[in-house]
Amino acid sequence: MPSAFLGGDRIFQRIFTRLGCQGRPPQFQVVLYPYANLSHTLRLRQDVAHVRMSDILLEAPIPVIEAAAAILLGQLYRRRVPRELRDLYRQFVLASSTRQHIASVRLKRARRVPDKPSGAAHDLEPMFASLNIEYFSGLLRRPRLGWSARPWRSQFGCYDPSLDQIVMNKRLDHPAVPSYAVEFILYHEMLHVKHPLRATACGLQAHSPEFRAEEKQFAHYARARKFLERIR
Ligand SMILES: [Zn+2]
Repeated sequence: MPSAFLGGDRIFQRIFTRLGCQGRPPQFQVVLYPYANLSHTLRLRQDVAHVRMSDILLEAPIPVIEAAAAILLGQLYRRRVPRELRDLYRQFVLASSTRQHIASVRLKRARRVPDKPSGAAHDLEPMFASLNIEYFSGLLRRPRLGWSARPWRSQFGCYDPSLDQIVMNKRLDHPAVPSYAVEFILYHEMLHVKHPLRATACGLQAHSPEFRAEEKQFAHYARARKFLERIR
C-alpha cells in the first residue's frame, strides 16, 4: 500500500489556482510511492485527481514539491509552468544531494545484511525480546536483525519489508549511546514490522498520525528523542 502524503492535497489545490487551471478543481488524493527515482503520475477520474509521487520527495523542501505539482498539473491542464518553478525542479533533480539520496536508497533497498544482532556495544536480540513482550504482547514476528556495515548519515535505522530485515545504524553501536536510545530506534522499526506498507522500502516510510501516537508509548520517548536530536 502506498502511504498518504499529508498536506499534499493542499499543495495541489494551491498550484491549481496559481496556474489558472480551468474548471472546478478536482479533489486531490496524493500518495507517496517507493519508486526509487523521481517519477510522478497524475490521473483524473471523475472529480478525483489521483497523484502518485516518488517518496524521494519526502525530504525535499516544499517549493520543490510545489514545482513538481506544477509540472504535473501543467501537463494535464495544458497550462504553462512558470519558468522559476521549472528551474527549481530541474535544480533539485540535478543536485548532487538528490543523486546521492537516490543512490543510497537503491543500495539500502537491495542489500541483505547478515542476521547478527550482537554489536560491539549493544545486543539487539534481548532488546527485541523485551520490547516484543512489553509493547507487542510477545506477538511480533522476528525479522532478520543486524547492524549496517558502515555508519549512515541520514537515518538511525530502517525496516525493509521486501528483505524482511531491520538494520540499525552502526553509529548507534557505541558505549556512549545509551541503550534506551537504541531501544527507541528498534521499537520504531518494530512498529514498521507491525504496520507494513507493501512496496515501501527502507528509510522512506511515511508515518501516519496513528503510527506517531503508538511511537509515543515508548517509556523513554522524550529522553530518547532528546538524545538522538543531539547526535543527529
Ligand atoms: Zn520510520
